[in-house]
Amino acid sequence: MNPHKLLQPVRNDDPSFDTVTISEDQFESILNIQQSILDSIALDHKEPDILSDLCRLAQDLLPESAACIMLLDDKTDTLNVLCAPGVPTEHHHRLKGIKPGHHNGSCAAAVYFGKPAYVVNTFNDPRWEGNRDLVKDFNMCSVWSMPIRNRDKKVIGSFALASFEHRSPTNFHDRLLKMCASAVGILLERKALRKLALIDKLTKLWNRTKLDETLTKQRELMSDPDHGYAVMLVDIDLFKNVNDTFGHNVGDAVLVELADIFREQIGSDGIVGRWGGEEFMVILTKPHCNRAPELAQRLRQAIQQHSFKTVGTVTVSIGVCVVAKKTRTIEIIDSADQALYQAKKLGRNRVSVHYKNKPKQWSIEELVECA
Ligand code: GH3
Ligand code: MG
Ligand code: MG
Repeated sequence: MNPHKLLQPVRNDDPSFDTVTISEDQFESILNIQQSILDSIALDHKEPDILSDLCRLAQDLLPESAACIMLLDDKTDTLNVLCAPGVPTEHHHRLKGIKPGHHNGSCAAAVYFGKPAYVVNTFNDPRWEGNRDLVKDFNMCSVWSMPIRNRDKKVIGSFALASFEHRSPTNFHDRLLKMCASAVGILLERKALRKLALIDKLTKLWNRTKLDETLTKQRELMSDPDHGYAVMLVDIDLFKNVNDTFGHNVGDAVLVELADIFREQIGSDGIVGRWGGEEFMVILTKPHCNRAPELAQRLRQAIQQHSFKTVGTVTVSIGVCVVAKKTRTIEIIDSADQALYQAKKLGRNRVSVHYKNKPKQWSIEELVECA
């Protein structure tokens, strides 16, 4: 049986669809892209790089075209550009906040209807009525868009090829777009799963694996003399008493509430994770690492001032290690641990700071330990 027969006929409701048979070369070119993406996955390349390669490989198969991946933001119900190497970055804002619908363009229609939108003439097709300026400014004469689905078959975005000339798609293009959309769906699922594997189940903060990865990366970056980072170890004071008095479930709830305070106080200034049990780690890079003692103090106060459900007041002790020179990760953790031990010894509910290989030019104020 001719394997290409398997690809024929491609059912499509779009009246502009052309049913030319896929040639052997075309079939091969799709397989080559698939192979290249699989190789990149096997070599553990980063998702943004793989997506960018996929766009480039797809647009190379259609002269005078640009590929674009749009992602649906569930919260705002808008489409935003995820990857479009053929579109200069300064124009990406034009592809932002597009509402799925029947007249906001091919991607909006593909996502809205959950089926491919093959617009051959964007200048008069009603599906582009609400976004005609965009096609004129970019000279996108034809735009073909394929919905991207997740493993639950929910539409999460679209993969599109925009042409700078009017074109009707063939079965080959339909097949190409389907393969690209499904590759993006797989890559995004993989990214979500990888993220899930790095998240602590109880607190939804990063887990130990992510913290270890981050510490390794920071150590590598220390080859740059301008780089610096700080590590905070945060340990709940007398947490055993909480468990003994209120039970383990209430103890768990305290950890969850505490995680929210971490998110509020540290936000995007650093990486916050559960180091283990009732111990947390915050990794701060430049410029925030210079403020590590101050941030630690602020965090400690916010926790002390918070009224925890059932339990009331909970306090923490924090050991901070500010790293100024390439040092073995184990030494840095040890140093933060020693600082933490010191904070406990001095009476708990306090911050203690150790500086690892402090440079000479640091002022006395910067070296003052916070108590
Ligand atoms: P210190 O101020 O010296 O740190 O006193 P502490 O009681 O907090 O320290 P200790 O290390 O003796 O006890 C920590 C407790 O944290 C013991 C353990 O039962 C509890 N713990 C660790 N992980 C969890 C968890 O996931 N959930 C709950 N509820 N408790 C936990
Ligand atoms: Mg502990
Ligand atoms: Mg403790």
